[in-house]
Amino acid sequence: MARQTFCTRATFLSADLIKEEVGELLRKSFAHHPGQLDLDALPATKADAEKLWSWAKAECLPLFGPYEDAMSRRSRSVFHTRISSLVNIHRLFPSRLISDVAGLKLPLESKEGFIRQVLGWREFVRHVHEATDGFRNVLGGKTPVEKAPGDGGYKGWAGKTWGQVNRIRGPDGGAAPCALGCDTPLPPAYWGERSGLACLDTVVSDVWAEGYSHHITRLMILSNFATLLDVRPRELTDWFWVAYTDAYDWVVEPNVLGMGTYALGGLMTTKPYVSGAAYINRMSDYCKLCSFNPKTDCPFTSLYWAFLGRHEAVLKSNPRLTMPMASLKKRGAARRKEDQQVYKRIREIMGRGEKITPQKL
Ligand SMILES: Cc1cc2nc3c(=O)[nH]c(=O)nc-3n(C[C@H](O)[C@H](O)[C@H](O)COP(=O)(O)OP(=O)(O)OC[C@H]3O[C@@H](n4cnc5c(N)ncnc54)[C@H](O)[C@@H]3O)c2cc1C
Ligand code: SF4
Repeated sequence: MARQTFCTRATFLSADLIKEEVGELLRKSFAHHPGQLDLDALPATKADAEKLWSWAKAECLPLFGPYEDAMSRRSRSVFHTRISSLVNIHRLFPSRLISDVAGLKLPLESKEGFIRQVLGWREFVRHVHEATDGFRNVLGGKTPVEKAPGDGGYKGWAGKTWGQVNRIRGPDGGAAPCALGCDTPLPPAYWGERSGLACLDTVVSDVWAEGYSHHITRLMILSNFATLLDVRPRELTDWFWVAYTDAYDWVVEPNVLGMGTYALGGLMTTKPYVSGAAYINRMSDYCKLCSFNPKTDCPFTSLYWAFLGRHEAVLKSNPRLTMPMASLKKRGAARRKEDQQVYKRIREIMGRGEKITPQKL
């Protein structure tokens, strides 16, 4: 990377009585929830919000564009701004962010990239949510809707129910479209059990440490892996809702159901966002510390081919998948069978909450 230091996280040390009181409430009433509480990392006051935005403009945005898709063990946010939670609670208004950035001296890719995220993606997903009633009225009004709120796989991991989820959610459990007919429960690895996959374990521990990870880790690690494993999209959506501090139905559902998992088929994206190890190795430094080798035995790659093979009937006519589907055909029956066996083994091992090792595959 051109600059070895990522933008170091801003801290918010303002002694604020309300913040202390809320911290105390969290410690007393929610100590059993996963994650950690770090009041210094939480922007709470108006001054904190301004400090975060000043930090983002000075430290992150100059390199935001060039490194937008990079992932690293050395930084949870790389050059992303960390403002989403504050924007979603209206501490910072999108119109102000856009006009500030339009007026800054920045490389064009940073300026364009940031404005596209806020004006393009954020406004777009909000519109999709409103226009479809949270996807309840798409697919000819036949989208399945969960009767009760889900727990994002908490019970499968903890062995007990999490009553709080039911109380904070709406009257039903939200739309549960599933274009690919997926039925794998979300593995306990998403709740912090070690999977043995360095990329997944790093991002999951980042999320539980801060309730945050940046966009590409959400899309190309967490959603990618779950999609390759045929995890139920609604369960993954519920997990994102529980795990992230910036989560709301209007933004989680389009991002997870519409973009991350292909649960709505081509309604929001033209193809599934899935990849094997080559992409992760190119865009991150995770593979350097992994017990798998991205060029030889990484499970992501077998899972990728197994995914294309299992869903060939649906995906083969997708013009954006012409090349991968042609490569799949050339892969040969024996390797394709082995891919499906790896998929089954990983599904079983991870379903039990155990670690995958090269020996187990
Ligand atoms: C599977 C998945 C789940 C997601 N869940 C959420 C969520 O619960 N809440 C949430 O606010 N965002 C969500 N996003 C969108 C995006 O990942 C986050 O907004 C972003 O990572 C927040 O970090 P940041 O503030 O550092 O963003 P930056 O990369 O610095 O981007 C600046 C701002 O652009 C907006 N933005 C960028 N991409 C999107 C997008 N796809 N949808 C909506 N706004 C966007 C956000 O307001 C963000 O703060 C999700 C994306 C994916 C792929
Ligand atoms: S080798 Fe595979 S499992 Fe390991 S970090 Fe790289 S992509 Fe992830």
